[in-house]
Amino acid sequence: MSIANELPFQTPVYLDNSSTTRCDPRVVEEMLPYFSDTYGNAHSRSHAYGWGAEKAVDLARERVASLVNCKPSEIIFTSGGTESCNLAIFGAARMYAEKGKHIVTTAVEHRSCMDPCRALEREGFEVTYLPVDTNGLVTAEQVAGAIREDTILVSVIFGNNEVGTIMPAKEIGAVCKDKGVIFHLDACLGLDTETLDVDADGIDLLSMSGHKMYGPQGIGALYVRRRRPRVRLRALNLGGGQERGFRHGTLNVPGIVGMGKAAEICKETRDAEKVRQTALSKRLKDAFFAQMDHLYLNGHPTQRLPGLLNISFNYIEGESLMMGMSTLAVSSGSACTSATLEPSHVMRALGVGEDLVHTSIRFSLGRFTTEAEVDFAAKECLAAAHKLREMSPLYEMVKEGIDLNTIEWKHD
Ligand SMILES: *Cc1c(COP(=O)(O)O)cnc(C)c1O
Repeated sequence: MSIANELPFQTPVYLDNSSTTRCDPRVVEEMLPYFSDTYGNAHSRSHAYGWGAEKAVDLARERVASLVNCKPSEIIFTSGGTESCNLAIFGAARMYAEKGKHIVTTAVEHRSCMDPCRALEREGFEVTYLPVDTNGLVTAEQVAGAIREDTILVSVIFGNNEVGTIMPAKEIGAVCKDKGVIFHLDACLGLDTETLDVDADGIDLLSMSGHKMYGPQGIGALYVRRRRPRVRLRALNLGGGQERGFRHGTLNVPGIVGMGKAAEICKETRDAEKVRQTALSKRLKDAFFAQMDHLYLNGHPTQRLPGLLNISFNYIEGESLMMGMSTLAVSSGSACTSATLEPSHVMRALGVGEDLVHTSIRFSLGRFTTEAEVDFAAKECLAAAHKLREMSPLYEMVKEGIDLNTIEWKHD
């Protein structure tokens, strides 16, 4: 019998909620009838199957709208966060190209925003990538300073998926309102613990992802402001005119129902979850820092997603550490680019040294993480890390008081 069977939780312990979240059982339950009972096309107006589906979509739209305080008619359902971000950036840029061809964004965006910006550069747009400080923040003043006569869009990530830093959305929104520039916020991460209000925060476009908020994978939403100003977008595809012509194609009714329920639960639980996850991740961090030296917390120390801890274990290869703790499901600190072993553009933008980038692990706690799991994770990770430190010649030298910076390495 394996030890894992004696634990009061399942292993590997899931600490990778920034990659995807478990679909909440309440969400699954709400979705089920829409696969094989009320399975109509939401746009079929001639029979009850269609009406039932349409009614369910209407309710989901209200719930998603309520989460960010907008009108239901301002919510466009998409296939996920990536499509929402693509639609926001390509859609706005191409619609307003005659007004100007300059976009302001940051150096720490998710690929679903960064790559569209890069593609637009090839279409003749100019993009300013604002640098961040060592905590991963841009300031509203930086944004204000970058906006020009021909700026048509500001696109900023909210909760950073690699280091957890939360951008000052409200301050940036105020600058954009003041300058009359459209503001897109990539809020795929953070809606389960933070409160965003598109009016109070001056947001014109807001991207959401179902599977980052305990809903299903493959569904997302984009908030598109309809009043003051009325934002228009060029659609990415062609077809039947669904979603006010912004996003063509038959609606994913079960997915939309799930996203709606997920949004409702997030709204009800976000304040309490923020408190709970803040305490849990502090518990994990404190355990690490109390029992090991030469650790670094990447990202902002306080203005951060409450469940996300990106920690560099100096002198330990991150990949080796991950392999050494098979009882934990975590990501390397630069999850998005770990396949290529390229130092991530986010960590690089923060100025994290290349050595520390490769030693970083991202722990992301979530709604279903328990205190027992956190304590287990700390124990498992520390055991693996101490073992690897003992085998590290670099760490040996540091312990002996040798300054590694003064060593001249011999290359063959
Ligand atoms: C996950 C994520 C996305 C992409 O969302 P998908 O639904 O996975 O396509 C975009 N931005 C951020 C910050 C994310 O974490």
